[in-house]
Amino acid sequence: MELELKPLALTGIEEKRPIVIAGPCSAETEEQVMNTAHQLAKKGAKIFRAGIWKPRTKPGGFEGIGVDGLAWLKRVKEETGMLVSTEVATAKHVYECLKAGIDILWIGARTTANPFAVQELADALKGVDIPVLVKNPVNPDLELWIGALERINGAGLKRLGAIHRGFSSYDKKIYRNLPQWHIPIELRRRIPELPIFCDPSHIGGKRELVAPLCQQAMDLGFDGLIVESHCNPDSAWSDASQQVTPDVLSYILNLLVIREGKHTTENLSELRSQIDECDNQLIEVLAKRMRVCREIGTFKKEHGMTILQTGRYNEILDKRGAQGALCGMDSEFIKKVFEAIHEESVRQQMEIINK
Ligand code: PEP
Ligand code: MN
Repeated sequence: MELELKPLALTGIEEKRPIVIAGPCSAETEEQVMNTAHQLAKKGAKIFRAGIWKPRTKPGGFEGIGVDGLAWLKRVKEETGMLVSTEVATAKHVYECLKAGIDILWIGARTTANPFAVQELADALKGVDIPVLVKNPVNPDLELWIGALERINGAGLKRLGAIHRGFSSYDKKIYRNLPQWHIPIELRRRIPELPIFCDPSHIGGKRELVAPLCQQAMDLGFDGLIVESHCNPDSAWSDASQQVTPDVLSYILNLLVIREGKHTTENLSELRSQIDECDNQLIEVLAKRMRVCREIGTFKKEHGMTILQTGRYNEILDKRGAQGALCGMDSEFIKKVFEAIHEESVRQQMEIINK
């Protein structure tokens, strides 16, 4: 299905990169919301975010202040002139937000992953002209992400955007949610006129990663950023470790280098970032392979076997050489790579056996 889109046309906001949405993960108290909002407005922020209903992985955490918080967002709008935005996950949330005059809605990652929930939102939004930003689903499924955009578009909403917030994985490494940049890049290729925002806070999960992720998103031609900012991050009721003060956010944004060349697939930094992604994956796969090799080392030690099993080694070199050739690489090159990998595997097994 082709999406029929219109520009976001956010009142009073220049269509200049990056369009910034900033504010706390959650609206906690009226004082916290107003304090954060005034500080952000003073730094030039134009669009405020705050979660009113919070989808939590486990029950018992802070699940959002609920409808009462909408009145605080109204106050933010009146006192600062900023546009206000929040997450909706049910038809009731939509009605409450429309009633309260919320300017921009976003659909959270857990909701995007559920077509029933997205359809319920689409039905509730039928005939309403409000910008809706759709976060990627928690799982790396581009079709599901596009499907959610199609459902909202199918209800007649044309001012749509996407938010890239990374993808969850079992192994938590540097990132809270893996960026997998090739997915939003492919989204851009498929729907070039759709504005894409990056959410460095939920990708990084820690405040030190916010600045580099913002820069990376700009280098990849993203249109906007949605960043969690709190007047007192350490005492935040949700996502404390990833929030930054309005001062720090302003500092980060001022240091951003905005290069033009948006929307071109030749863009060198875009390609480089794809290379970085590949290299990261290579290292992770190699590390995993070495872990398995060490386990084999333990097995060989327990069973009094020798490390080098020549038959198996030759089999690997031949099989992978042929496979590499099928993928357009020189089979001798692949053999060399596997010789080097094998050498390191043997070294690691020797360490285990001689322990
Ligand atoms: C949020 O923006 O606070 C949020 C809950 O994000 P996500 O849906 O990306 O987890
Ligand atoms: Mn959050």
